[in-house]
Amino acid sequence: MTMTADLATWIEQVIKDFIENSAENTLQNKANERAFDEPLVGFSKGDDPIYESYKTYVGPFHWTPHEIFTQTFKGFSVRPEELTVISWILPQTKATKADNRKQSMYPSDRWARARIYGEEVNVKLRKHVVATLQENGYEALAPMLAPLWEMKKSEPYVIASTWSERHAAYASGLGTFGLCDGLITPRGKAMRAGSVVARIKISPTKRPYTDHQAYCLFFSQGICGKCISRCPVGALSEEGHDKLRCFSHLKPVTADYVKSNYGFDGYGCGLCQTGVPCESKIPTKLDVE
Ligand code: SF4
Ligand code: SF4
Repeated sequence: MTMTADLATWIEQVIKDFIENSAENTLQNKANERAFDEPLVGFSKGDDPIYESYKTYVGPFHWTPHEIFTQTFKGFSVRPEELTVISWILPQTKATKADNRKQSMYPSDRWARARIYGEEVNVKLRKHVVATLQENGYEALAPMLAPLWEMKKSEPYVIASTWSERHAAYASGLGTFGLCDGLITPRGKAMRAGSVVARIKISPTKRPYTDHQAYCLFFSQGICGKCISRCPVGALSEEGHDKLRCFSHLKPVTADYVKSNYGFDGYGCGLCQTGVPCESKIPTKLDVE
């Protein structure tokens, strides 16, 4: 095993151990159920030109790994090729997906918990990965937790941000985009994603695709479109994802519902991520009736 393979195995284990063994991986419900199943982990290089291309495809404000690293560690001299983006996918549990599959307007209790408390798990995982790397002498940061991270208006995407976890995952070989904008991974689209940028040398994960929509049956084979009919507010069509319509359902509509029915401050939907052929896997035409 090469040294970079050793480091890849080590980091992957740090992430998997946290999700497998940490008491923090919880939906915070009465049964204290876990928020996520076993993660997928991928790596991409800090100087991968794909990150530069996101300035065109997402917006000029989207950071390269080198930009956010040098803005965080000011005065630290580092070359882009010395950096690695560590990206992970946290699949929703069977129970969370099964519950949300039954919904037709609002999120299930578990799904809304996964959106709020699950994301808290994801934040703790980012901090844990950063701390573990730092303790071992590798400077690291989580772009989503950087004080500079912000949402932006973007011409093609309406709303975007200075770092996109799904785009980091795409760059790191973990999946491609679907009609509804979600990332379809080998564990499906019902997931949350996270990432850390570190000064560490790890070989990139091979991207088993060349097209950014390769795993979506609508784009690859002209079939499916099941996510369109799952959307309760008509935010999905053959033209794609109407973000403004989607967001106005999330807040205030689902936020009010979650508060009055489940008793906590939350929101969520994910109907287009569940009850669809790409929910838990890369779909094939056999998955479309
Ligand atoms: S449900 Fe079908 S059309 Fe929608 S993202 Fe998944 S594979 Fe693509
Ligand atoms: S998250 Fe909900 S509202 Fe938004 S596109 Fe998906 S199904 Fe529609």
